Amino acid sequence: MRALEIEVFSCRTDNYGVLVHDPETDLTATIDAPEEGPILEAAARRGWKITHIFTTHHHIDHVEANLALKEKFGCEIIGPVNEALAIPGLDKTMADGDEFHFGEHLVRVIETPGHTAGHICYHFPDDKILFAADTLFALGCGRLFERTAADMWHSLQKLSVLPDETAIYFGHEYTLSNARFAVTIDPDNERLKARAEQIEADRAQGKFTIPTMMGLEKETNPFLRAADPAIRRNLVMESKTNEEVFTEIRKRKDNF
Ligand SMILES: [Zn+2]
Repeated sequence: MRALEIEVFSCRTDNYGVLVHDPETDLTATIDAPEEGPILEAAARRGWKITHIFTTHHHIDHVEANLALKEKFGCEIIGPVNEALAIPGLDKTMADGDEFHFGEHLVRVIETPGHTAGHICYHFPDDKILFAADTLFALGCGRLFERTAADMWHSLQKLSVLPDETAIYFGHEYTLSNARFAVTIDPDNERLKARAEQIEADRAQGKFTIPTMMGLEKETNPFLRAADPAIRRNLVMESKTNEEVFTEIRKRKDNF
C-alpha cells in the first residue's frame, strides 16, 4: 500500500485546509471545506480531483464550501450523525467507532463532543494519522460551545490513547497563543519551554505548526495533562479531580 499524500494550506483567517490523497486509487478527500478558492487552488497545484469531504463538525468555517465543491466535483460528503441536519449536502453519517475505507486505507471515526455536540475526528490507524479539527490543537483544545468541560476531557482522553507516533492535523493556527498560555500552566516543563521558544521563532517566520505528534502533545499540551502533579501543584488543585483541573485550565485559557 502506498503512503497517503497530504497537502496543507491556510485559508480564511486562521483555518488550516488539508487535502488527503491516495495515489493508488486517485481519491482525494478534503478535511472539512472551509473555503472554496484555497481548496480548489491546492487541488489544482497537486493535480487532484476532490472525491470526498470528511466533515468534522457543523461550524460555518468548516462546511461553507460543501455545496460548491459537491456541485463542481460530485464528491461524497461524510459527516457526524449527531449534526446531520446542520451539514450541507451530507451523504453519509458516521457515529463513534464506525469504520470505512478510503481506497485501501482504514478510517475509524472517533466522536469527541465538547467543541460541538457531535464533533467527530477521523483516525487512519494504519497510517498513524488523526484529523482532529477543533477538538485537539497543537498545545490547545477547542473552545466549549455545546458541551461541558467534563465532556471535552473525556473526548481528549479517547484521543490520547492513540500511539505517540500519530501525526495530528488540526483545524486552526492558534499555536502561538496556545504556547504562551501553556507555559503559565506548566512553567517548569523543560520540553514545553523549548517547544514554546521554537514556536515563537517558527511563527515569526510564518511557518506552519501542523501537523503535531501525539507523543509531543502528551508531554507538553496542558489540556492533556490535568493529571500531572506539577500542574496540579502550580494551580493549587492537588486534591481535585482531573475533570476539575481540566475545567480550570480551560476557563483560564478563555480569559487569557
Ligand atoms: Zn469549530
